[in-house]
Amino acid sequence: MTGRTGPVPLLQMVLRVEHDIFVVRQRGREVAAGVGLEHQDQVRMATALSEVARDLLRATGGADVTFSLADDAVDGRRHLRVELAPVGPLPGGRYEPQSGAVARLVDSLGVVTGEGDTVVRMSRRVPVTAQPLTPEQLAELRAQLGRNAPGSALDELTVQNGQLIAALDEVRSQRDELAVLNEELAETNRGVMALYNQLTEELEETNRGVVALYAELDEKSAQLRAASESKSRFLANVSHELRAPVTAIIGLGRLLSDSASDPLTAEQARQVGLIRSSAADLLSLVNELLDLAKAESGRIEPDWAEVDLRPLFGQLRGTLRALATRPDVELVVEEPPVPATLRTDEVLLGQVLRNLLHNGLKFTEHGEVRLRAERRDDRWWLSVSDTGLGIAPEQHERIFEEFYQVPGKTRVGGTGLGLPYARRLVTLLGGTLEVSSEPGRGSTFTVSLPVGGA
Ligand code: ADP
Repeated sequence: MTGRTGPVPLLQMVLRVEHDIFVVRQRGREVAAGVGLEHQDQVRMATALSEVARDLLRATGGADVTFSLADDAVDGRRHLRVELAPVGPLPGGRYEPQSGAVARLVDSLGVVTGEGDTVVRMSRRVPVTAQPLTPEQLAELRAQLGRNAPGSALDELTVQNGQLIAALDEVRSQRDELAVLNEELAETNRGVMALYNQLTEELEETNRGVVALYAELDEKSAQLRAASESKSRFLANVSHELRAPVTAIIGLGRLLSDSASDPLTAEQARQVGLIRSSAADLLSLVNELLDLAKAESGRIEPDWAEVDLRPLFGQLRGTLRALATRPDVELVVEEPPVPATLRTDEVLLGQVLRNLLHNGLKFTEHGEVRLRAERRDDRWWLSVSDTGLGIAPEQHERIFEEFYQVPGKTRVGGTGLGLPYARRLVTLLGGTLEVSSEPGRGSTFTVSLPVGGA
């Protein structure tokens, strides 16, 4: 039930005979227009009113009709309210409109009982867009409604006919609009279907392209693999073949400079010395090439075993001391923390660490070169750090390329094959080899290996 706050009666009238139904309808529309209801709502209100009026006239012999404006307690909005107080008792004290659709024409329709009276009340919201009426305008509206003489039933019928025609027109135009909409919808559907088909085709086309691309990629990587294998094979063969003659040159050089041979002039001895040292360089290059080729072709099979780092570190300490000839550079091999074991190939790991330590000693003029082992989780971190020249960040990856040497001061001896080989070996052992370095502050090469092997 809706509450009411100070309804303002606008018009009162009586409903006693059939003709009054027309009058009630006509006045209802006038009041609705007066308070600002839209045209459609005026017709709805008037129609609902005439239906209810007819029902009450038949069931109770008539009613007193009051139009008023009321603020609804529930939604706080202004409503046009019509109360029809029946002159006789409502059958069963209830009211049901004959046509069920009537209730839908208004916002509320029902029986209200208050202060002993039973009235049928209907109401319709005044749109928010309607200007609220000032008290003066209300008084004026009330006066005007009071002045208007009710028209005849025929007048109301004419108006009603006009409304009916307008409503029919509207229905027709809505039907036409609906047909247009349906047509548009069908058109859109056709468009969507065409788009979908086109997309599907494009997708299939793209898929075919991708598949072809992958096939090409597979082929290219097979070619690449084959090329890399033949490069390794070539390197291995050439270096193997070179080893014998180079070793022979070294041997012959040694023989020539042997005290048991014919004595050489000083110049000859110097030249033989040059031949021997060049041959020794060549031999170490050939050996390194052979090692790398072997590692690349997968011909190195790690010999897995439980390795103790302590004897390995001891060995490195001993052999590399001979290379640490600079008085300002100290070689420090720390004792690894116990238990210092891991599953790996001792010989290969020894080669890697020796290589790194050797580099450290080569490129450090003051300070130290340090080997230390640290165990974290299930990995060993073996680091070789030095206080030498350091390496610029843009060279950090390049130094792992074959034959690459940082241009400038560090290009002293060497082949540029040591680090790529070391990284290959560490990969074979299931680990990684990384560098961190800053020019002028030194470098740290870190080998990380899983405790349990690859
Ligand atoms: P090589 O030592 O035979 O030249 P490597 O592959 O071992 O070849 O090293 C490649 C290059 O990386 C070296 O020529 C050098 O320029 C640089 N490099 C390697 N280790 C160090 C280091 N500890 N400090 C500074 N530069 C280094």
